[in-house]
Amino acid sequence: MKHQESFQLFWFRRDLRLDDNAALYLALSGQKPVMPIFIFDIDILNKLPNRRDARVQFIWNRLQEMQETLQAMGSGLQVFYGKPEEVIRLLIEEYSVEALFANHDYEPYAEQRDTAIKNLLLQHQIPFYTAKDQVIFEKSEIVKDDGKPYTVFTPYSRKWKQALTEKHLLPYPCASFFHYFYNKKANRWPTLTDMGFETMNQHFPLATVSNDLLADYAEKRNFPSLPATSRVGVHLRFGTISIRSLALQARSKSEVFLNELIWREFYHMILWNFPSVGKGESFKPAYDKIRWRNNEAEFQSWCSGTTGYPIVDAGMRELNATGFMHNRVRMIVASFLTKHLLIDWRWGEAYFAEKLLDFDLAANNGGWQWAAGSGCDAAPYFRIFNPALQTKKFDPTGTYIRKWVPDFDSLTYPRPIVDHEFARKRCLDVYASALNKS
Ligand code: FAD
Repeated sequence: MKHQESFQLFWFRRDLRLDDNAALYLALSGQKPVMPIFIFDIDILNKLPNRRDARVQFIWNRLQEMQETLQAMGSGLQVFYGKPEEVIRLLIEEYSVEALFANHDYEPYAEQRDTAIKNLLLQHQIPFYTAKDQVIFEKSEIVKDDGKPYTVFTPYSRKWKQALTEKHLLPYPCASFFHYFYNKKANRWPTLTDMGFETMNQHFPLATVSNDLLADYAEKRNFPSLPATSRVGVHLRFGTISIRSLALQARSKSEVFLNELIWREFYHMILWNFPSVGKGESFKPAYDKIRWRNNEAEFQSWCSGTTGYPIVDAGMRELNATGFMHNRVRMIVASFLTKHLLIDWRWGEAYFAEKLLDFDLAANNGGWQWAAGSGCDAAPYFRIFNPALQTKKFDPTGTYIRKWVPDFDSLTYPRPIVDHEFARKRCLDVYASALNKS
């Protein structure tokens, strides 16, 4: 038998914040009780290879913070652990649910999940309202004059900037309607241990970007030894910062930083319009003819930061220790893996997906295909980063390398796994023959 209680559901996913949240605003401003829920998706969690996962801890901490705020208002976040479709099914069977609200989620898995839930709700005549929240422009909002999606960044970013108005950056004032949160305390939550994860005492970056950092961003962002980038990636990933507030700040403080936020939207747009890239296919099919060497031992050296190339090893050791790697170094290690070692970019993509705190399917895939040359608007196949020259340019004093590879000039430090000149020529031959270039 159904409970008498009736309310609307708001489902948090990649938007873990109570303020300036588009679909939450839509739900609350309907002026009916709103029950907030979160579902730890068993299918996603089961696929994580490591039982110590800082991303799961990050979500957990954030839910706790939101819970405290909601409890202070006499409400509570209901947290579930299971398959989303099953959880929603139980809720609509048990309660009189008037509608479900959520923000758009563009990854192929999320699209599939949401379609199944939409169909389920349809059978019960319950509407599923969704809104754009994690990007300024989504799907086909920024397209070429002929209506086709852009595949090159610069004209896309130009159109993006032309389309931007004050309205796009206005916050959604959720707080004015907080009194519509449903008046029910949360039930017992699943703990991290219940879900098979270890608790971690990890330090996470702040969800703010200082104007001082933005003032120097253009000049300093390429130097990995400097704390000159925002580290806001994880917050954009989980929606613990609003893209509207960040873009508003970027627009007045740093055009170069705004461009990086547009790169993020570019890759989201690519994944949505070309979902096959998220399923392992090269954006440029010809690149799937490359005969990768895929040497397991060399891959292990790359993963563990023991290739004998200090800048590559520094990046990989930073990633393994902290879950972060500087963008410049991401480009260097990705180029090294795909071009020097001729290891399939999908291997590197998967390793980053496992380790990066800010892992995001669209940006990670975009970054890897850019490095391998197989992506849209990618580095040309003959552009092979020279680790020594990159070091000279971007870590000239060796500060970054010394921090992560203190043994780099000791006798125990490995010799280079492959000679640079040899690897460069080998790569050019292998790529040229796959791509029929002579
Ligand atoms: P900042 O320089 O402060 O930039 C601010 C924000 O802009 C970032 O947090 C990010 O959301 C966005 N951004 C910046 N550069 C890019 C870019 N090139 N592409 C897309 N968005 C960008 N970024 C991810 O968010 N998740 C990933 O999984 C990811 N994997 C990558 C893999 C490779 C091989 C490469 C080359 C890049 C990858 N990037 C990824 C892009 C970029 O390296 C990170 O966004 C950036 O290093 C995060 O640090 P930050 O927050 O200090 O960046």
